[in-house]
Amino acid sequence: MGDNKEKPAAEGGVPVRESKLYYAHQSIDQSDIDAVVRVLQGDYLTCGPAITSVEKKLCEVTGAKYAVVCANGTAALHMACMAADIGPGDEVITTPITFAASANCALYCGAKPVFADINERTYNLDPAEAEKKVNENTRAIVAVDYTGQSVELDRFLDLCRRRGLVLIEDGAHVIGTKYRGRPNGSIADMTTLSFHPVKTICGGEGGAVLTNSETYYQKLLLARAHGITRDVSLMEHTPDGPWYYEQIALAPNYRITDMQAALIESQLNRLDLFAARRKEIKRRYDEAFSRLPQLFVQEEIPESDTVRHLYVLRLVPERISIDRAQFFAALAAENIVCNVHYIPVYYFPYYQKHGYKKGLCPKAEKLYDEMLTIPFYYAMTDQDVDDVIRAVTRIAEYYAK
Ligand SMILES: *Cc1c(COP(=O)(O)O)cnc(C)c1O
Repeated sequence: MGDNKEKPAAEGGVPVRESKLYYAHQSIDQSDIDAVVRVLQGDYLTCGPAITSVEKKLCEVTGAKYAVVCANGTAALHMACMAADIGPGDEVITTPITFAASANCALYCGAKPVFADINERTYNLDPAEAEKKVNENTRAIVAVDYTGQSVELDRFLDLCRRRGLVLIEDGAHVIGTKYRGRPNGSIADMTTLSFHPVKTICGGEGGAVLTNSETYYQKLLLARAHGITRDVSLMEHTPDGPWYYEQIALAPNYRITDMQAALIESQLNRLDLFAARRKEIKRRYDEAFSRLPQLFVQEEIPESDTVRHLYVLRLVPERISIDRAQFFAALAAENIVCNVHYIPVYYFPYYQKHGYKKGLCPKAEKLYDEMLTIPFYYAMTDQDVDDVIRAVTRIAEYYAK
């Protein structure tokens, strides 16, 4: 093995970096801090003007007609399922290569998540695999824009129209991406966003549902706050005073604070900057890693003009003598801290106890065995990017077979 190759730190070489580099990190500047402080000095900490303002901004950025911000991306998914009237006996199709929330949202409504396999080159849910799982109980598809690449929206919309299904796009990774020139968020029946600090836009916590439908919009407002309305046209009884409101459905409290809303809006003002840098880092990674036969570079459909949220490396087992866990450890020895997105959702004990079995989605399972997420975020310096490329390259070449 590799006499003239650079020795990885795992084999006694000098680590590429002295300080640790993590897979994601938020970028907070003075304008973000000022925006939050202004809210704290004002009258409203919840249900205030920062909420309506960020919702207007989200509509501008995504082209959606309506936006409803909420506590987090998981709440957004639950709200979307409630707005779609999903309930016991219903089935909701999604991908196993996602965060658990994309499937849990069906369970919250008493419905059953059904997993369909991915496309092995783009890693997104495959519309043909999803269609195979449609039956008379299917009510919705939760399609996840994995790593920020748009799912094949035309094919999913066509499938949903033909079979009478609701298309919920889990866009936790997607903000900034365009599908056929239109921003994601303005195309599916409902699109959910997340503003967790690892995501492209940070609110500490936070989420949103975007839709063009007035009907869904009204239901989303109820789903955000107890099923309570102050809209007289929705009430059953005549108000007996200006204080009057009615609870007409059952829902949790999924509100977000005005401080978080202000932070999200402030971050959205820099979305173009974030997007440009992410595209630049992605281009440099792709260029470097496509030269290494030990690695497979995630492919993209031409319809998606992608702002990446995550960068995923995939090992080619025929060409490298170490496995994913060893590759992960070798990068850690270089002080490059990776992650894995995601463990197939149905591997979790909760799902296993409810009858889901390994082997369900073979392409997703194979991807899980071979992939890891490397550092990828706006604030990475060129030196950071160079370090990652050098570390990945020395490990891939040292263990080449
Ligand atoms: C982050 C994420 C969520 C959940 O968002 P939270 O804001 O953390 O609740 C849902 N789906 C996907 C694909 C995510 O990455």
